[in-house]
Amino acid sequence: MADSSVDTDVIVVGAGPIGLLLAGELCLGGARATVLEQLPAPSTASRASALHARTLEILDQRGLLEALGTVPCDRVGHFGGIRLDFEGHDSRFRGPWKVPQTRTERLLGDWAAGLGAVISRGHELVAMRQTERGVEAEALGPGGRVLIRAAYLVGCDGERSTVRRLAGIGFPGADATRELLAADVGGIDVPDRRFERHERGLAVANRRPDGITRVMVHEFGRAPAARGKGPEFAEVAEVWERVTGEAISAGEPVWVHAFRNARRLAARYRSGRVLLAGDAAHAQLPVGGQALNLGLQDAANLGWKLAAQIRGWAPDGLLDSYHEERHDVGRRVLADIEAQATLLLGGPEVEPLRTVVTELLGHEEVVEHLVRKISGLDIRYPSASDAPLVGRRLPHWELTTGDGRYSVPELLRDGRGVLLDAAADPAAGAPAGWAGRVRTVRAATPPGRAVLIRPDGYVAWADDGRTPLRDALHHWFGAPEQETP
Ligand SMILES: Cc1cc2nc3c(=O)[nH]c(=O)nc-3n(C[C@H](O)[C@H](O)[C@H](O)COP(=O)(O)OP(=O)(O)OC[C@H]3O[C@@H](n4cnc5c(N)ncnc54)[C@H](O)[C@@H]3O)c2cc1C
Repeated sequence: MADSSVDTDVIVVGAGPIGLLLAGELCLGGARATVLEQLPAPSTASRASALHARTLEILDQRGLLEALGTVPCDRVGHFGGIRLDFEGHDSRFRGPWKVPQTRTERLLGDWAAGLGAVISRGHELVAMRQTERGVEAEALGPGGRVLIRAAYLVGCDGERSTVRRLAGIGFPGADATRELLAADVGGIDVPDRRFERHERGLAVANRRPDGITRVMVHEFGRAPAARGKGPEFAEVAEVWERVTGEAISAGEPVWVHAFRNARRLAARYRSGRVLLAGDAAHAQLPVGGQALNLGLQDAANLGWKLAAQIRGWAPDGLLDSYHEERHDVGRRVLADIEAQATLLLGGPEVEPLRTVVTELLGHEEVVEHLVRKISGLDIRYPSASDAPLVGRRLPHWELTTGDGRYSVPELLRDGRGVLLDAAADPAAGAPAGWAGRVRTVRAATPPGRAVLIRPDGYVAWADDGRTPLRDALHHWFGAPEQETP
């Protein structure tokens, strides 16, 4: 590849939900982003539909929820197929919102493009190489080969990530041992059921207002078939009949799929100037809607850090904190999904375990614990501070500031950090030197102490009388502007 100037700051490979959110976050943080997407047009495939509380809070921080209008919300979810009521947490968003993934992608794509991201559809990344100063990527587009140079490249290119392979990042984990066959079918009439356990297997059916029924079925003990491609509807209908006794083979399938319980986590989320996010970094059974939400939260964590790196103000270690924070979350979510997959797809041998879990779910603390976990509200990023708020996402506080009442998400909309301090003097631009990166708001917080919030809504520092604010600002937001050489 020939040597010439950088074309963009960050190449994002993949215009799925994760790549689009990341591109928007990068642009909001002042970086240029070019998204390469192999498909010529947005996917219309039926995929994830649940946006969990923490993801909704993140979208709220960017002012993106209004555009979704009124959205149905599920108050009742499940843990491995066992009923779970979404109660007992402190988010404004009680249960997951039901938003088709195509709608989420449109929302994020419009937002990213509005902020200046270039979305190049019909461009497949086929090669890349890291140089000392950046990354060179080669894509095949409608007009032939395109060479793009950037300072960084992020693979948001899904489970079979080309970026992960080209970067030589390992993807250790376990192959699938079970599969859940699924089909959207017209012209059938079977009763609706949620995770109904039969003698031979598990069956789910849900008829939509348009008359199409989604059926999902697993036959206990049956290993994933070696097909080399997706299942045919005839196979789904056969397994359905064996499990439920109902014949659906005369139905008209509009979509057929096999969900598998393979579990893999990228060995590193960063290799030099190449990073991974979303399904490119972790493969999992999308049970309980956690796959999409895990990935969207990766993008929210990475976006501002990588933008800071591009803008030149990132302190040492900020970009690496992406791996440190999100790899661990990925590991925990995958373990949680595995536990759910065992309860869901296990046969009669898991009945005693299901009984115990069902009993435990009679306790409020257990319900709250699991709901917070599934909703992404339990995350606490590592920190040297033992102040209770630090490392956690800031709850939805309503604040009275010098110029009116605001909620914290509203204060985060411009992508800067926020310092809440009842004693601050915003007119003086305090904290001097960081004003471009941190917005100071004169407001009393519910705990009554000053709090510094990162652009992704997690608490960087809370005044505990021991750690000076200045240290925290240096740690998270780099050297103040006048001190930058
Ligand atoms: C049928 C189905 C149902 C699902 N249901 C659920 C659910 O209910 N709940 C849930 O949480 N999750 C579900 N998922 C998973 C969820 O859809 C994914 O977790 C989510 O799409 C991950 O987003 P992503 O942006 O990381 O990757 P993807 O959405 O896979 O996007 C990756 C993008 O990269 C592009 N790409 C790949 N390679 C290249 C390349 N070399 N060059 C350029 N572009 C490239 C692809 O075309 C694609 O657009 C489901 C998935 C499927 C397939």
